[in-house]
Amino acid sequence: SALTDRAGVLEDLSHYLTAAWESFDRPRPCEPAIDADLVGRLRAALPEQPDDTRAALDDAVNILEASVSPSRPLYLAYVGSSGLEVSVLASALSAAYDANLATAAGAADLLDQQAVRWVADFVGFPLGEGHFTSGGQTSNLTALLAAREQALPGAREEGVAGYRATVYCSDEAHHSIARAVEAAGLGRRALRRIPTDERRRMRVDALRDALERDRAEGFTPVAVVATAGTTLTGAVDPLAAIADVCEREGVWLHVDGAYGLPAAATSTAGHWFAGLDRADSVTVDAHKWFGMQKSCSVILLRHRGPLRAAFGHEERYMLHAEDIGKPVDHTFEYSRPFRSLRLWLSMRVHGADQFRAWIEGTLANAALLADEVRAHASFELSHEPMLSTVCFRHVLPGMSDSELDSHNVRLARAIQADGRVYLAPAIVDGRTCLRACFVNFRTTPDVVKTVLDVADELGRTFPPEETA
Ligand code: PLP
Repeated sequence: SALTDRAGVLEDLSHYLTAAWESFDRPRPCEPAIDADLVGRLRAALPEQPDDTRAALDDAVNILEASVSPSRPLYLAYVGSSGLEVSVLASALSAAYDANLATAAGAADLLDQQAVRWVADFVGFPLGEGHFTSGGQTSNLTALLAAREQALPGAREEGVAGYRATVYCSDEAHHSIARAVEAAGLGRRALRRIPTDERRRMRVDALRDALERDRAEGFTPVAVVATAGTTLTGAVDPLAAIADVCEREGVWLHVDGAYGLPAAATSTAGHWFAGLDRADSVTVDAHKWFGMQKSCSVILLRHRGPLRAAFGHEERYMLHAEDIGKPVDHTFEYSRPFRSLRLWLSMRVHGADQFRAWIEGTLANAALLADEVRAHASFELSHEPMLSTVCFRHVLPGMSDSELDSHNVRLARAIQADGRVYLAPAIVDGRTCLRACFVNFRTTPDVVKTVLDVADELGRTFPPEETA
């Protein structure tokens, strides 16, 4: 087949997708070695003439095969996804039609808004307005820019030099918050990192103190960012108590639920999210625990208005309706692909019940691993998990704390090279541990049971001089 004709593209799509999905369950090193010839070809100059299409496609697929795929059920590092099949189909369809959600895209806008409402309904958030973005970083920045315009009127026009602004988040919040503070022009020193309690949640008394102290010193608080599912350990900040403080102080509350928010819809973990409905804005990444492919994040706002105030503008080649403007008047991004089609089609095909059951399954996998760690003499838990992230250490008798740190880093590398599961190391309270994050609906309890067997087996077979 030739890649330049439609029949050929369809045939190849079907062939290679089948191969990709079939390879997902097979153990293999997560970063397989790349063939040296292929590396050479990747350094070749821009081809002026058509290349051999078959060879080009083979190279592309070989590169993908030698890359880390967070959709594999054995992948428990960072925050993966499920890469649902129906979402792949929706990605292909939206690429084919290539609607641009920046300008009025017609019927696509209606579907987009329905998908936003479904996300809000699923997690239990009273929606004013919202939209799909490229990722959690963009959603968090969007929220902060909306909060900034409310707290520092005229900042868009005049800049923020006349203000001494502050933003608050826990010391376990994602780095995207610091970057959003920087990008909003507030300066990194504006960010107050509030200490956490024994469950790694923001300490509300410390937040209250920080706000009072800053107000007394003439600072203007722009936003409090609570995290609903920290990336490191899955901690959910006490949203209701934080909302009380924000309401009293008149400060914008943003909830970064990029990873954890889908768990709000479960009976197992839903109670941690009480108070979510009082947030001004909320981030949730559909490309994490909702099982979509990247990039598919959602920003939700409780009220209509702040987005337009933050992003509305005049563009001479677009007619902006007086009352609502264009979609681009509400977003930070300009050209936007039709990302919501993935979530919408997946929700229609599978139903919300199935999603809740899938998410419950990943929580059960995490609870199973935590139980196994507690019961195993060679492992210790780094924290009691609230959601689906489990951090634990392999401990061998006679090793000091710092020896255990380097032992667990090396163990993570050995696990990645082994390929039966994929874990990455993490640092919790200054101690290096292994971290497993369960968001993939295809990960079975068998994989969970394999984790400790593999880690213990590999951790005991290091040459002794290297463990020192
Ligand atoms: N916030 C949290 C809590 C996250 O876990 C992440 C990513 O893991 C982000 C923000 C950034 O999201 P993205 O990578 O989609 O930009």
